[in-house]
Amino acid sequence: MNPDWIYLDNNATTEPSTGVVGAMALALRQTWANASSSHAMGQEARQALAMARAQVAKMLSCKPAEVVFTSGATEANHMALRGAVGFNSRQGLVLSAGEHAGVQKLARHLKERQQVDVSWIGLNADGTLNMAQANALITSDVSLVSVMAANNETGVLMPIGELARLAHERGALLHVDATQLIGKLPFDFGKSGADLVSLSAHKFHGPKGVGALIVRQGLNWPALFMGTQERARRGGTENLPGILGMGAAAERLNLSPAQWLTQTRQQAHQRDTLEQGLKAALPGTVVFAGHAPRLPNTVYVRFGHVHADVVLNRLDRMGVMASSGAACSASGNEPSPVLMAMGVTREEALCAVRFSLSTHNTAQQIQTVLERLPLELAPLMAEHAPPIDQPTGVFA
Ligand code: PMP
Repeated sequence: MNPDWIYLDNNATTEPSTGVVGAMALALRQTWANASSSHAMGQEARQALAMARAQVAKMLSCKPAEVVFTSGATEANHMALRGAVGFNSRQGLVLSAGEHAGVQKLARHLKERQQVDVSWIGLNADGTLNMAQANALITSDVSLVSVMAANNETGVLMPIGELARLAHERGALLHVDATQLIGKLPFDFGKSGADLVSLSAHKFHGPKGVGALIVRQGLNWPALFMGTQERARRGGTENLPGILGMGAAAERLNLSPAQWLTQTRQQAHQRDTLEQGLKAALPGTVVFAGHAPRLPNTVYVRFGHVHADVVLNRLDRMGVMASSGAACSASGNEPSPVLMAMGVTREEALCAVRFSLSTHNTAQQIQTVLERLPLELAPLMAEHAPPIDQPTGVFA
């Protein structure tokens, strides 16, 4: 990576930490045996696997036996949703309109091809979950409710505790896609009330291609991939370098409540400096979901009516990495479904730019963006200003 580049796309992926790189190198050089082998080297690999499982469990305050390693959150989400179909006599799946593209596609597939009764909880204009709809949709026919802990685009936090209460009251299970929350805020599996939780290591300074589904003890959840590994819950030779990297990333997040508070405050301070600085320097900047409870690292804005592609092109030339929403759907001319669900117009949604920070970012980097971006964007915003009588949207 060019040392002058400024990486502000941490909701897409994060930089692997030094400890993670070290743990993975060790796994590739030394602990490379098959963890299912009975010989001494296999035993060594098994021990390393158990250590990583304990590290992940500690980060989430769950039991090591509840951790099922997967290839990432996409697989974990598939295991959760597909596992719910036919798990009991209940038919329904309820998810939010803001779920990740992989979950949305799978849910539509299950509805269209397998006649699963899927319904979607809408979002409010501020990006929060419409709880009146949640209350109406989570009926006694529902098998699984699946809602993310924090939205990858807006950073808005979803009311997981309340959803767990609603779901359990009506006999349904709750799956939480916590991919974007883990690493940015503390997460306690037991206290969350969730039955299943998905996570992906590369979102918290671990490697890509590894994650986990946390399955509440006693829940005999079906495997997506059959085999003997992971106590027959996930077949396939364990990705030891990835898993050990994930363990090392988890280890770094064993923070005391006071340390979490400090980290969160520092992160939110950086976010607010960027957000408020952009608003002050570029009047006409509109923040999405700015008034909702949200992650401390995410800034989601539009610069008047300047198309996101134009802004990103300027940022790119400045050496600043940002995104027009979810990295997985960041190209092309399709507006963000999350913004559309919030009632943002198509035209305004196509102007959305996301900056997402991490603890690896410095105050100096934020200052550099604040010094340079307004010079680039001010003339463009004036050029793209709407006629005086045209409304400029509700997200003032
Ligand atoms: N869920 C959410 C909320 C995400 O943000 C992502 C990654 N963008 C995923 C799931 C999928 O994670 P992965 O690509 O690591 O499988």
